[in-house]
Amino acid sequence: MTNQLSDRLNKLSPSQTLAMSQKSSELKAQGVDVINLSVGEPDFNTPQYIKDAAKKAIDDNFSHYSPVPGYPALRKAIAAKLKNENGLEYEPSQILVSNGAKQCVCNALMAIVNAGEEVIIPAPYWVSYPEMVKLADGVPVVVSAGIEQNFKINPAQLEASITSKTRALILCSPSNPTGSVYSKDELAALVAVLIKHPHIFVIADEIYEHINYVGTHVSIGQFPEMKDRTIIINGVSKAYAMTGWRIGFIAAPEWIVKGCNKLQGQYTSGPCSVSQKAAEAAYTGSQEPVREMCTAFRRRRDLIVKLAKEIPGFEVTVPDGAFYIFPKCSSYYGKSYNGRQINDSNDLAMYLLEVGHVACVGGSGFGAPECIRMSYATSEENIAEAFRRIKNVLGQLK
Ligand code: PMP
Ligand code: GLU
Repeated sequence: MTNQLSDRLNKLSPSQTLAMSQKSSELKAQGVDVINLSVGEPDFNTPQYIKDAAKKAIDDNFSHYSPVPGYPALRKAIAAKLKNENGLEYEPSQILVSNGAKQCVCNALMAIVNAGEEVIIPAPYWVSYPEMVKLADGVPVVVSAGIEQNFKINPAQLEASITSKTRALILCSPSNPTGSVYSKDELAALVAVLIKHPHIFVIADEIYEHINYVGTHVSIGQFPEMKDRTIIINGVSKAYAMTGWRIGFIAAPEWIVKGCNKLQGQYTSGPCSVSQKAAEAAYTGSQEPVREMCTAFRRRRDLIVKLAKEIPGFEVTVPDGAFYIFPKCSSYYGKSYNGRQINDSNDLAMYLLEVGHVACVGGSGFGAPECIRMSYATSEENIAEAFRRIKNVLGQLK
């Protein structure tokens, strides 16, 4: 049968991060020794106390539908986390738990964006944002920040991108894919612009909050003028090595949470009961494993930055958070090896995968075609070996 997908799905691009990870797994299944720097997920296992809570939840028969916005105990634990770690006051009624931060961003956009309204997305951006905006019938407005500005937009760029149709700004700090972190002063400068435009909401994706090498996380929601206009997105995937458990949350004004509750009630119901009990343990138990993982990520960051700086033609920033580096690699475009020409970031990623057996993701999916993303959520041995291979195969390009 011919393609009879809806226009909505025909317009939608597949997730490039997941596609590259899938390709890497396929090659591995064929027996190729691939080092996977493509997908962004901690290589650590979920801490034991969280796994124990999940096992107990099964034995305690947490096997029924959960309330659509999540168990009250989990929402209370999240409210306490927001107060203790971020100094933010939220009632449990202003929190909604979903199937990962991914669904949270989608929910938030579906809740506030009308057809034709604009959503400002600073680039480099996480691959899914523009596609999610399109799913909500919104119009992505991409504002590019290059490596020379450490991949962060400035107030003048924000001001210039605002129109009467702007509904929201999606701000991701620490950032996937660049690792850049907006400082308090930089956020204050953006807030000074936003204050002049009270019709704009901020969707603050803080999923990498705990993987921060420069200090305590600053949320734009901490600016009193912004709290009622901010939808905080966070979850357990990255901080607690729980990507497969699928638990994220939004913290937002109650009317937005109620809207998302209505949407979720028709679309997915509440998220997995056992995972919620595991997430509750994550937020209420020892935070030591989070600190230990962040320390390991910092060591790996230092190693990968050193190795990436040794690659001729790479331009590298030192990421302040998350677990990605995003080198500018366009000096290789136009070069070839054995008749294979590299024209763009996707060609380069495929070359590194097929010839070097290292999986990365081309920058074009992140709105930065001059760059390539490498995740360092893997062992130092893997990072060192990956860079031996990368250096070798890039050296063959003439
Ligand atoms: N936001 C960003 C910036 C991400 O990198 C990811 C990647 N997983 C998500 C949201 C989604 O996270 P989750 O696994 O909780 O759906
Ligand atoms: N967020 C991770 C990444 O960027 C996981 C894959 C995805 O959901 O996009 O690699």
